[in-house]
Amino acid sequence: MNDIYQARLLAHAKKPHGAGSVPRGTEDAEALNTACGDEIRLKLHWTPEGGLERMVHELHGCAVSTAAASMAAKSLEGKTRAEIAAMASAFAARLGRAGFEEQWGDFQAFNGIEKFPARIHCAMLVWKALEQALAKNPGGRK
Ligand SMILES: [Zn+2]
Repeated sequence: MNDIYQARLLAHAKKPHGAGSVPRGTEDAEALNTACGDEIRLKLHWTPEGGLERMVHELHGCAVSTAAASMAAKSLEGKTRAEIAAMASAFAARLGRAGFEEQWGDFQAFNGIEKFPARIHCAMLVWKALEQALAKNPGGRK
């Protein structure tokens, strides 16, 4: 992670998109990263047409997990369940390996994360929760 990307990451961590209150029991998914102590609860709100209107997440964790959740909340708006599932697989396949090209925007902040293997779990946390949330409600809206 070079300095420019580090700055992008910190900007997200400081003012995370989609951060809000998700009281226990109302979440669509909850995920833990025991390696770092990160914890996320998330709630997905869908439009009647089946696009993601808003992803709200309550996260207690480090800057990397917070930034990853913020970037996801921002980039997934308007996407369908299938598009989100495809992006989750693509993200997992690239993280710590090939990395992210220009079209991934702020996610490029995670290029080089393989130098900090423990952080990979932090960056994956929101995507794990998203996959759980989609598995729970695979079809139409709730
Ligand atoms: Zn973490």
